[in-house]
Amino acid sequence: MASISRRTLLISGGAATLVTAGALTWDETSRLWWRVPGIDKQRTEGDVDQPGVRWIAASEANLRFADRPADYTVDRVVIHVTQSDFPTAVKVFRDPLHASATHYVVRARDGRTVQMVRELDVAYHAGNRSYNERSIGIEHEGFVDRPENFTEEMYRSSARLTARICKKYDIPVDREHIVGHNEVPGADHTDPGPHWDWKRYMSYVREARGGLGAR
Ligand SMILES: [Zn+2]
Repeated sequence: MASISRRTLLISGGAATLVTAGALTWDETSRLWWRVPGIDKQRTEGDVDQPGVRWIAASEANLRFADRPADYTVDRVVIHVTQSDFPTAVKVFRDPLHASATHYVVRARDGRTVQMVRELDVAYHAGNRSYNERSIGIEHEGFVDRPENFTEEMYRSSARLTARICKKYDIPVDREHIVGHNEVPGADHTDPGPHWDWKRYMSYVREARGGLGAR
């Protein structure tokens, strides 16, 4: 694979510095296009947007680089159920041919959560372009027809995550802004399904949001 030499504009702490990047591999170069004014957020492998979550990158084919909330207002959280086990969900979101991924995946048995897409970026999860652009997607391990998958640990962990997202983007904690995939306009998916306990979930989100304080 050929190396090329180029001058690269790097943004650091808001100040633009022109540096000679020297020889870069093609792979490195292809990741630099977003380092331009207007799309100046740095992406560091392994960094996460919320406490307590672990980074496992989705395939870049399953998302679109963006600069949210600067370019798109984030005002929705979309709740999904994976229709698979946790490892399979993580695996398919890493598959460039899968054509979808969400920002977060929550494990049923203990609520452990991985982040697979940065909140800056648009993940392909809602089946609706504008909803993808305006939302954070959270997948929950399980199947819509198996209520036993929806554990207390999963509800609690997901609710804490949603509460932090609502605080960060100033999203009201209500069912207009926290929606099921099935409620996205034009969606042909049924998740999270009839066994997802919205009343319980929303009460946990409200409780967690209250614990984070105002703004
Ligand atoms: Zn879904």
